[in-house]
Amino acid sequence: MLKRFNLQIEGIVQGVGFRPFVFSTARAQGLAGWVLNNSRGVEIEIEGLEESINNFISILKEKSPPLSRIHSVQAQEIPLKGDHSFFIYESKELADRLPFISPDTDVCDDCLRELFDPSDRRYLYPFINCTNCGPRFTIIRDIPYDRDKTTMHIFTMCPVCEREYHDPLNRRFHAQPIGCWQCGPRVMLLDASGAEVETADPVQKTIELLLQGRIVAIKGLGGFHLAVDAAAQDAVVRLRERKHREEKPFALMVRNVETARQLCFTSPAEEEILSSHTKPILLLKKRPRHAIAESVAPGNQFFGIMLPCTPIQHVLMQDNFLALVMTSANISEEPITKDNDEALERLRGIADYFLVHNRDIHVRTDDSIMRTMAGNISIQRRSRGLVPLAVPLLEEGIEVLACGGELKNTICFTKDKNAFLSQYIGDMENAETFRIFLESIKHLENILQVSPQVLAYDLHPNYLATRYALEQQGMRLVGVQHHFAHVVSCLAEHAVDEPAIGVAFDGTGYGDDGMIWGSEFFTFDYAQYVRRAHFAYIPMPGGNAAAREPYRMAVSYVYQAFKDKLFDLDLPVLKRHAEHLATFITMIDRKVNAPLTSSCGRLFDAVSALIDLRDIMTFEGQAPMELEMAIDEQHDALYHYEIINNAESTDYTISFEQVIREIVEDIKRKEPASSISCRFHNTVAAVIVDMCKQLRSETKLNLVALSGGVFQNLYLLTRTVDHLKKNGFSVLTHEHVPTNDGGISLGQAVIARRACNK
Ligand code: ZN
Ligand code: ZN
Ligand code: FE
Repeated sequence: MLKRFNLQIEGIVQGVGFRPFVFSTARAQGLAGWVLNNSRGVEIEIEGLEESINNFISILKEKSPPLSRIHSVQAQEIPLKGDHSFFIYESKELADRLPFISPDTDVCDDCLRELFDPSDRRYLYPFINCTNCGPRFTIIRDIPYDRDKTTMHIFTMCPVCEREYHDPLNRRFHAQPIGCWQCGPRVMLLDASGAEVETADPVQKTIELLLQGRIVAIKGLGGFHLAVDAAAQDAVVRLRERKHREEKPFALMVRNVETARQLCFTSPAEEEILSSHTKPILLLKKRPRHAIAESVAPGNQFFGIMLPCTPIQHVLMQDNFLALVMTSANISEEPITKDNDEALERLRGIADYFLVHNRDIHVRTDDSIMRTMAGNISIQRRSRGLVPLAVPLLEEGIEVLACGGELKNTICFTKDKNAFLSQYIGDMENAETFRIFLESIKHLENILQVSPQVLAYDLHPNYLATRYALEQQGMRLVGVQHHFAHVVSCLAEHAVDEPAIGVAFDGTGYGDDGMIWGSEFFTFDYAQYVRRAHFAYIPMPGGNAAAREPYRMAVSYVYQAFKDKLFDLDLPVLKRHAEHLATFITMIDRKVNAPLTSSCGRLFDAVSALIDLRDIMTFEGQAPMELEMAIDEQHDALYHYEIINNAESTDYTISFEQVIREIVEDIKRKEPASSISCRFHNTVAAVIVDMCKQLRSETKLNLVALSGGVFQNLYLLTRTVDHLKKNGFSVLTHEHVPTNDGGISLGQAVIARRACNK
């Protein structure tokens, strides 16, 4: 029987080859009608045999183009019109809502084949792309997503590209960044002074320079990388010196999964992530023997590895290097460099050469970073290749802008049933990052077509993002406690909206009592939380300095556990810092410059210094990371912690005094760091399980959400999840947004929405 349907498809369905796909699918099924883009996505009318229409719809859902993401299909039967063929119509301009924009992606297989095919007209063309691949988010200046609204607007298509662009059956039909050797962007090699290096083949010349050990700044999708031959120790050391980066590992780019496998241990799941369209940096455990320079990731058991993402990177990696260092081009913690002029200016004295091109990057977007363990994925940085994918929410609500935290800042907008997290903005500790924070707000407001009346912000009065929020006029303001935002972000990313036990472990977050929190057990839902337990407060001698210098926390914990007997202890960490002990103890006793914290991160710092792994950190999170990596052989031993029931309230505090005393015993017995670290990690996992059991017995809550930067520690996360599940808990951990502060803007947004809906 003949039928006709109108279909409205929402999701990422524009600029990703969706209409040609609909066109060929309809023809293959012998169906008539039309397809067009409208402001909600793609609209289709389809007429023919009912069975063919059903086939058509299921193919649409199951075999849609790689970059597309269908969020919903609404089908409505309408009267027959008697069409005989199928058409692609021009777009309908409806301005009420906006279709979703795709993240940037790597080069697709079809384009790769053409890239290395000497007979193809785009042979080795550094900007080859099609509707299935290439830049998106980073080149969009405005919506709708049309070429003149992207940084491609300055290039006029040649007749051949023009024909491809207008042919519905061509892979490049409406591929906005289309171009070729004749008409598209081109690369240039500049020397340190900015003068163009005369060469017929700038990419080939770059390969030669890199092989000579030169440092070359290379423009990628979301910004510049500093590249150097990763096998050349001298060159890597030079890069470290020039970049003033002492120990933080450099990311590596390798040609393919096989090379990654040569350097690191990989699981099938990890290989899949490596080669996914996102092309993130994936942290992988080093093999014992490899040919990579020691300075790439000194003292680190992991390499951060990524595969080529852009055509230029594919050509560079072709047979030339085992691996290239590809580190974000910035100075210390400043934002990644994106413009050619900016690169010449900011990277002066660092890069010997610059491989640039004339397709501008509109939105700077760092590489995404991930790690996996035992089936758990941790997204440490959600940026290029993932932004601006929506996090689907459970319900509609008002538009909110959540300003995020201080470190690893991201912002988040809500619109309809979606939350949109920004690219990684960075540590909001300098004017440059703050400027990019402001830029990102403007840009996302524009491309998402949102104008929020509600601002959510962290309670810390000195965070730049908070100060920004408090200065805005005529907005409704919702302050959100840091760890509350953490645990809600964990529920929200799983589209769960029910009361739960929340465990938020991190380095720093401003508490309701004005203290520095960081080991919080909540019972909570989207609307409220009760702080039920936390680690016993401990002084941080020297305040902020104690967050960078773990030995200070070691002294504080040892003093708490041993009091004046501290001076009789024969501990290496105390000997190393003997001249400071008296000062620290005075600070602690007199409560001068020794703020109290319940931070779990500081406990990890303390143990790291205590067992002589790390006294002073050169980058955030270094000490806990090294403590985790010290775990070599695993066992199940525990230290003895104490859960103290504060009789006057229902609050619990968890004391690690005995844990510290037992660690000191172990140190005296010359237990290896590996064993102490393992036992310590097991203890923290056991604390979580015990506390959750206690809270379950009081509240009947069986769902646990784990959040906060500490859970980037995959040994701890894996063990905790495992033991919670063995005890019958349902457990949620982060998979789609970072567990670190890069994820809190989502929690802030969801909490503010709920607060304003009441
Ligand atoms: Zn392609
Ligand atoms: Zn062309
Ligand atoms: Fe945090």
